[in-house]
Amino acid sequence: MSFQSLGLHPSLVDAVTKLDYTDPYPIQAEAIPAVIDRKDLLGIAKTGSGKTASYVLPILHLLLQPQARRNDDHKGPSVLILVPTRELAQQVQAVFEQFIHQLPDRIKSLAIFGGVAINPQMQALRNVDILIATPGRLIELESKNAVKLGATSTLVLDEADKMLNLGFKEEVNSILALLPQKRQNLLFSATLSDDLSSINQLILSSPVIVKIASEQDSINLIQQRAYLVETKRKGPFLRHLIKSQKLQQTLIFVSSAYQADHVADKLRRNRIHAESIHGKLNQGTRKETLEDFKAGKLRILVATDLLSRGVDISALPCVINYELPRSPKDYIHRIGRTGRAETPGQAISLISPEELHHFKVIQKKMGKWLTLEHTDEIDF
Ligand code: AMP
Repeated sequence: MSFQSLGLHPSLVDAVTKLDYTDPYPIQAEAIPAVIDRKDLLGIAKTGSGKTASYVLPILHLLLQPQARRNDDHKGPSVLILVPTRELAQQVQAVFEQFIHQLPDRIKSLAIFGGVAINPQMQALRNVDILIATPGRLIELESKNAVKLGATSTLVLDEADKMLNLGFKEEVNSILALLPQKRQNLLFSATLSDDLSSINQLILSSPVIVKIASEQDSINLIQQRAYLVETKRKGPFLRHLIKSQKLQQTLIFVSSAYQADHVADKLRRNRIHAESIHGKLNQGTRKETLEDFKAGKLRILVATDLLSRGVDISALPCVINYELPRSPKDYIHRIGRTGRAETPGQAISLISPEELHHFKVIQKKMGKWLTLEHTDEIDF
């Protein structure tokens, strides 16, 4: 699945490529075509799932269409994004800007939020196409006639559950009353509470529903094993694992570009088909290697953390941590490359005595403890 096949405008496809987004995340694969189709959407997904780009990209796509109404006539923004906090407002604005400055058309986005002077925001509101706002400040600006919402054709509620938890229900309702009845509604939330269901029913009509499993659900799908191996024995043990378990399509993570080349080289010398991939290789080589691996033409791919995020290879059966990543988050991202799409996968970690303490920290963060298997008695 590529961004191009989702029907996005070519300049947006170029923009995502420049940002090194290789493939759409699952939420993007489902949400982008639905939003382009002007459907309502309910997205149950947390931060980290790629939810922001899942609405930012199709919204920009729609604004790039020749018939799109731009706000040069001062009727107010055509897109309104409500968010619970100033931080999220700035974050969403940054994602829009990242893409907008690469586009051929002039599209203006602005974030408004409380806790700062109102006058500069009043002035900046002129000709805004996409307005990202916290509810309180938006109501304040609207009551001063600084913004009109009568031409808003798309509404996004981001982190809707947090918005309700922070007590913004009334504000949200009064903003809804200012919007045209006929509009597209996109609602994103990490959870689906009763309160939220009532808002959903109020604003969404026959929505496309996209639910992304939480990281913890995904972790539970992965069969994890950990072996205690001395650093200098990791190479031979890795080859033993690949051969004895007849591992096919396996992604091996290492800590540096040098190590990736070294491990892949050693495997090849032992007649195991392997290639490396890391940031020091040019984009073309990286793309080609990754495509070979995805197509099943390459058995083993040795990678740095460049690949721990974003690479969606359906049902990758096995991931090996040849060395542990620095952060627990990266460990979870790495092993998350397997066990996707509800298919059980295997994640194997080779832990040297020096890495033991760090592995404990990782397990604690992950909330799951593994039995360390000893390798002294295995003949390899
Ligand atoms: P979000 O869940 O929207 O906060 O996004 C999480 C992170 O994933 C952000 O840092 C994005 O830049 C990144 N991201 C989103 N979509 C992709 C993608 N398709 N490929 C790689 N990175 C992505």
